[in-house]
Amino acid sequence: METTQKNFYECIIIGAGFAGLSVASSLQHQNITDIILFNSKNSCGKPWMERYERLHLHTVAKESEFFGYPFPPEYGAYASREQFANYLDNSAKKMKLNIKHNHLVTKIEKYSNQQQQHQQMKKISWKISVQNNNLTSTDNTLSSSASCSYYYCNNLIVAVGVFDQNMPKMPKYEGMKSFIENRGRKRLIHAVNYSSTKTLGWKGLKVLVVGYGNTGSEIALDVIEGGGYPTSLIRSPIRLINREDYGRFRNMPYHPILKQMLPYDPYTNKLPEYIWKYFCQFFDMISYIVTRYRYGSIVDKHGIQIDKVGPIMGLEYEHVGPPLMDLGTMEKINDGECKVITSNITRLNATGVEFENGTVKEFDAIVFATGYIAFTNFFNVFGKEMINEIGIENIINAGTTGHKVKDSNHLWISFGGLPMMRHQAIVIVDEIVKSDNYKNSNKDGMKKNVTRKRSSL
Ligand SMILES: Cc1cc2nc3c(=O)[nH]c(=O)nc-3n(C[C@H](O)[C@H](O)[C@H](O)COP(=O)(O)OP(=O)(O)OC[C@H]3O[C@@H](n4cnc5c(N)ncnc54)[C@H](O)[C@@H]3O)c2cc1C
Repeated sequence: METTQKNFYECIIIGAGFAGLSVASSLQHQNITDIILFNSKNSCGKPWMERYERLHLHTVAKESEFFGYPFPPEYGAYASREQFANYLDNSAKKMKLNIKHNHLVTKIEKYSNQQQQHQQMKKISWKISVQNNNLTSTDNTLSSSASCSYYYCNNLIVAVGVFDQNMPKMPKYEGMKSFIENRGRKRLIHAVNYSSTKTLGWKGLKVLVVGYGNTGSEIALDVIEGGGYPTSLIRSPIRLINREDYGRFRNMPYHPILKQMLPYDPYTNKLPEYIWKYFCQFFDMISYIVTRYRYGSIVDKHGIQIDKVGPIMGLEYEHVGPPLMDLGTMEKINDGECKVITSNITRLNATGVEFENGTVKEFDAIVFATGYIAFTNFFNVFGKEMINEIGIENIINAGTTGHKVKDSNHLWISFGGLPMMRHQAIVIVDEIVKSDNYKNSNKDGMKKNVTRKRSSL
């Protein structure tokens, strides 16, 4: 059903998480205010509130906040999930953004010039179908009573998040059924359904945590704090670093003395590539020495493998994801409060797990911290046909750099870690402001804002 409400905007942003809000805030700083955001959840912070209770940011405040919207001082060095969720919603209010929550974008279509029926002198590039899902549903599914509207824009930014909580990666093993029948359905879960050992009533239980990424290692710690007995299954080599050491590195460019010597923000005006790469390699070398000193005896004793790729190079250049930032679980492993197994699972039985090395262990509960199927939100929003037309590698390239999708008509994508998305927002808005499409539809002098300094953002 076509509606009579305003349905043309200079910029439409799909998704109002950190990525979408970063772009919106950067657009506002360039005085581009004709923006609408569609968000399928009922708040900006919702994806964070759906994660486990103990979760804190692993990234330092300086690189996790919007430009011009600092974290409140009481947040400390690493914001909790509640603090970060509140920060997102409060910042959106302060920005006075036009966000339509509970609105699911179901289709994106290119809008050709021949189709122009609108009176505006503006150029339309995209038509968006939006389902108003204003019911209680919080997932990305359509509700039967939802109503559909169409919106049009010059510039489209897709910021729908890489990890869809509805798509956990759950390995399948023989014997899972008998474990569930014996221990109960709620005793074999994915991390997405883990709240805390206290909330789940797992005090005193023996818990196997499969996977030792940032989520798995923190859940193991939570099990201990909640009075349970964890065993961590650590199969793959880890890029281990202490969270505080990592924070020191990330905070370094913001140190007042260094800031005077190098007046730059690494995520807005990057250093020349080769200097930055040397800097990362140098840090990884130092980090290797410090990590060996801190954890060498623990990893050797338990046969935990350390990845050859360093934590910073892995993140910045090898694109193998963030390092494992230890919050204290390694010390618990050393103390024997968290046990370790490095062998693969062969099968489950009614009371526990059999491993490839022949060990059989009893467990009361199992948590799979094995990640999510990535990019499903992007597949849903673009549809198979458009994904094939644009090319998945072009989408990933655009998403990781902030540059316009290759050969596309005013389409930008943003995803990744928070520091990366802050940087992408600036690249995206720079390109929008410089684009012919924007200039043609804003002949009344908006261009003067283009020269606004990045540092003022
Ligand atoms: C457990 C966990 C911890 C993390 N910790 C950190 C950290 O400490 N530091 C760091 O840098 N990164 C971290 N990340 C990675 C990343 O920074 C966060 O996932 C971040 O929230 C991603 O922001 P986003 O805006 O891309 O996605 P989201 O926060 O997921 O927001 C996307 C929004 O898009 C909406 N959406 C999706 N599809 C549609 C549609 N079709 N129509 C309308 N709306 C739609 C969703 O409702 C959602 O609100 C973490 C990730 C996880 C899973």
